[in-house]
Amino acid sequence: MDSAEYERKIAHRFAAFDQDGNGYIDRADFSSAAARLLTEFSTAARSERGQALYSGAEAFWQGMAGIADVDGDQRVTRSEFVGGAVKRLRDNPERFAEIARPFLRAALAVADEDGDGVTETTAVERALQALGADPHVSVFVAEALDEGREGRVSEDAVVAAFARYFTVVEPG
Ligand code: CA
Ligand code: CA
Repeated sequence: MDSAEYERKIAHRFAAFDQDGNGYIDRADFSSAAARLLTEFSTAARSERGQALYSGAEAFWQGMAGIADVDGDQRVTRSEFVGGAVKRLRDNPERFAEIARPFLRAALAVADEDGDGVTETTAVERALQALGADPHVSVFVAEALDEGREGRVSEDAVVAAFARYFTVVEPG
Protein backbone atom coordinates (compact mmCIF):
# COMPACT_ATOMS: atom_id res chain seq x y z
CA MET A 1 0.00 0.00 0.00
CA ASP A 2 1.46 3.39 -0.93
CA SER A 3 1.07 6.42 1.28
CA ALA A 4 -1.74 7.92 -0.86
CA GLU A 5 -3.75 4.73 -0.46
CA TYR A 6 -3.00 4.70 3.26
CA GLU A 7 -4.28 8.28 3.56
CA ARG A 8 -7.39 7.39 1.59
CA LYS A 9 -8.15 4.42 3.85
CA ILE A 10 -7.68 6.50 6.97
CA ALA A 11 -9.98 9.15 5.53
CA HIS A 12 -12.68 6.54 4.86
CA ARG A 13 -12.47 5.13 8.35
CA PHE A 14 -12.55 8.57 9.92
CA ALA A 15 -15.56 9.55 7.80
CA ALA A 16 -17.39 6.38 8.85
CA PHE A 17 -17.18 7.52 12.48
CA ASP A 18 -17.70 11.22 11.77
CA GLN A 19 -21.38 10.66 10.99
CA ASP A 20 -22.30 14.36 10.88
CA GLY A 21 -19.22 15.24 8.81
CA ASN A 22 -18.11 18.19 10.96
CA GLY A 23 -14.47 17.11 10.97
CA TYR A 24 -14.22 15.48 14.37
CA ILE A 25 -15.62 12.45 16.14
CA ASP A 26 -17.57 13.07 19.32
CA ARG A 27 -20.47 11.67 21.33
CA ALA A 28 -23.01 13.18 18.92
CA ASP A 29 -21.68 11.03 16.07
CA PHE A 30 -22.31 7.88 18.09
CA SER A 31 -25.79 8.92 19.15
CA SER A 32 -26.62 9.93 15.59
CA ALA A 33 -25.47 6.51 14.36
CA ALA A 34 -27.82 4.94 16.91
CA ALA A 35 -30.67 7.23 15.84
CA ARG A 36 -30.18 6.37 12.15
CA LEU A 37 -30.34 2.66 12.90
CA LEU A 38 -33.48 3.07 15.00
CA THR A 39 -35.13 5.06 12.21
CA GLU A 40 -34.18 2.49 9.56
CA PHE A 41 -35.68 -0.33 11.60
CA SER A 42 -38.65 1.66 12.98
CA THR A 43 -37.59 1.08 16.57
CA ALA A 44 -38.50 3.53 19.33
CA ALA A 45 -35.61 5.09 21.26
CA ARG A 46 -37.46 4.38 24.50
CA SER A 47 -37.88 0.69 23.74
CA GLU A 48 -35.62 -1.89 25.37
CA ARG A 49 -33.69 -2.43 22.14
CA GLY A 50 -33.47 1.31 21.56
CA GLN A 51 -32.06 1.92 25.02
CA ALA A 52 -29.56 -0.93 24.60
CA LEU A 53 -28.38 0.64 21.34
CA TYR A 54 -27.90 4.09 22.92
CA SER A 55 -26.01 2.67 25.89
CA GLY A 56 -23.83 0.60 23.52
CA ALA A 57 -23.15 3.77 21.51
CA GLU A 58 -22.18 5.66 24.69
CA ALA A 59 -19.85 2.85 25.79
CA PHE A 60 -18.29 2.81 22.32
CA TRP A 61 -17.74 6.57 22.45
CA GLN A 62 -16.22 6.36 25.95
CA GLY A 63 -13.87 3.61 24.77
CA MET A 64 -12.89 5.56 21.68
CA ALA A 65 -12.31 8.74 23.71
CA GLY A 66 -10.24 6.82 26.25
CA ILE A 67 -7.95 5.61 23.51
CA ALA A 68 -7.81 8.53 21.12
CA ASP A 69 -8.87 11.81 22.78
CA VAL A 70 -5.34 12.76 23.77
CA ASP A 71 -6.07 16.35 24.83
CA GLY A 72 -9.31 15.41 26.60
CA ASP A 73 -11.54 17.97 24.85
CA GLN A 74 -14.23 15.33 24.15
CA ARG A 75 -13.46 15.45 20.44
CA VAL A 76 -11.35 13.06 18.43
CA THR A 77 -9.72 14.97 15.60
CA ARG A 78 -8.37 13.32 12.51
CA SER A 79 -4.82 13.50 13.84
CA GLU A 80 -5.89 12.03 17.20
CA PHE A 81 -7.69 9.31 15.26
CA VAL A 82 -4.62 8.46 13.20
CA GLY A 83 -2.18 8.78 16.08
CA GLY A 84 -4.28 7.19 18.78
CA ALA A 85 -7.05 5.01 17.48
CA VAL A 86 -5.46 3.52 14.41
CA LYS A 87 -1.98 2.97 15.81
CA ARG A 88 -2.94 1.71 19.23
CA LEU A 89 -5.81 -0.42 18.06
CA ARG A 90 -3.65 -2.00 15.40
CA ASP A 91 -1.48 -3.31 18.22
CA ASN A 92 -4.49 -4.59 20.12
CA PRO A 93 -7.48 -5.33 17.85
CA GLU A 94 -9.16 -7.39 20.59
CA ARG A 95 -9.48 -4.28 22.70
CA PHE A 96 -11.28 -2.48 19.93
CA ALA A 97 -13.54 -5.47 19.42
CA GLU A 98 -14.57 -5.37 23.07
CA ILE A 99 -15.19 -1.62 23.01
CA ALA A 100 -17.43 -2.00 19.97
CA ARG A 101 -19.17 -5.25 20.93
CA PRO A 102 -22.08 -3.89 23.05
CA PHE A 103 -23.01 -1.43 20.29
CA LEU A 104 -22.72 -4.05 17.55
CA ARG A 105 -24.70 -6.59 19.56
CA ALA A 106 -27.46 -4.03 20.15
CA ALA A 107 -27.40 -3.01 16.47
CA LEU A 108 -27.84 -6.63 15.38
CA ALA A 109 -30.78 -6.94 17.78
CA VAL A 110 -32.38 -3.81 16.31
CA ALA A 111 -31.83 -5.19 12.79
CA ASP A 112 -33.50 -8.46 13.82
CA GLU A 113 -36.93 -7.05 13.10
CA ASP A 114 -38.99 -10.14 13.83
CA GLY A 115 -37.04 -10.82 17.03
CA ASP A 116 -36.30 -14.47 16.23
CA GLY A 117 -32.66 -14.11 17.26
CA VAL A 118 -31.40 -14.20 13.67
CA THR A 119 -30.14 -11.10 11.87
CA GLU A 120 -30.48 -11.55 8.15
CA THR A 121 -27.84 -10.50 5.64
CA THR A 122 -30.29 -8.13 3.94
CA ALA A 123 -30.92 -6.36 7.28
CA VAL A 124 -27.17 -5.87 7.72
CA GLU A 125 -27.05 -4.28 4.25
CA ARG A 126 -29.77 -1.87 5.30
CA ALA A 127 -27.95 -1.07 8.55
CA LEU A 128 -24.71 -0.30 6.72
CA GLN A 129 -26.51 1.95 4.26
CA ALA A 130 -28.29 3.74 7.10
CA LEU A 131 -24.83 4.51 8.50
CA GLY A 132 -23.74 6.00 5.19
CA ALA A 133 -22.01 3.10 3.44
CA ASP A 134 -22.19 2.88 -0.33
CA PRO A 135 -24.96 0.43 -1.40
CA HIS A 136 -22.59 -1.79 -3.39
CA VAL A 137 -20.12 -1.88 -0.52
CA SER A 138 -22.96 -2.73 1.88
CA VAL A 139 -23.98 -5.75 -0.17
CA PHE A 140 -20.39 -6.93 -0.49
CA VAL A 141 -19.67 -6.53 3.24
CA ALA A 142 -22.93 -8.14 4.36
CA GLU A 143 -22.31 -11.14 2.11
CA ALA A 144 -18.74 -11.46 3.37
CA LEU A 145 -20.06 -11.49 6.94
CA ASP A 146 -22.40 -14.34 6.10
CA GLU A 147 -19.69 -16.94 6.60
CA GLY A 148 -21.98 -19.96 6.49
CA ARG A 149 -23.84 -18.65 3.37
CA GLU A 150 -27.09 -19.06 5.26
CA GLY A 151 -28.42 -15.54 4.83
CA ARG A 152 -27.63 -14.64 8.43
CA VAL A 153 -24.87 -12.82 10.27
CA SER A 154 -23.44 -13.66 13.70
CA GLU A 155 -22.26 -11.26 16.39
CA ASP A 156 -18.75 -12.72 16.39
CA ALA A 157 -18.42 -12.33 12.62
CA VAL A 158 -19.53 -8.69 12.82
CA VAL A 159 -17.27 -7.83 15.76
CA ALA A 160 -14.24 -9.49 14.16
CA ALA A 161 -14.84 -7.82 10.78
CA PHE A 162 -15.37 -4.45 12.41
CA ALA A 163 -12.12 -4.67 14.38
CA ARG A 164 -10.30 -5.77 11.25
CA TYR A 165 -11.68 -2.94 9.16
CA PHE A 166 -10.68 -0.24 11.62
CA THR A 167 -7.36 -1.63 12.77
CA VAL A 168 -5.66 -3.23 9.79
CA VAL A 169 -4.30 -0.19 8.02
CA GLU A 170 -0.70 -0.50 7.06
CA PRO A 171 1.30 2.33 5.54
CA GLY A 172 3.39 1.39 2.50
CA1 CA B 1 -18.64 14.59 13.96
CA1 CA C 1 -9.36 15.69 21.37
